Amino acid sequence: MKNPKPINTTRTLYLTCPYCGFKDNDAYELPFVGLDDTINTECKSCEMEYQAERIVYVRYSTLKLNKKPLA
Ligand SMILES: [Zn+2]
Repeated sequence: MKNPKPINTTRTLYLTCPYCGFKDNDAYELPFVGLDDTINTECKSCEMEYQAERIVYVRYSTLKLNKKPLA
């Protein structure tokens, strides 16, 4: 019997269950505190509990406002 395909659970765009590979795209509903945090959560598909870490990368954008500089 072939081994099951390994599940990538590291720095993925969606929270990915390490047991069944279910991708949870409602992760913003989870009770993370602050930007970077680690919690325990339950898979919505296989109902196994697993640890989830949120890793946030910040980018900034700027645009000119065509105003005079502040005095
Ligand atoms: Zn699962």
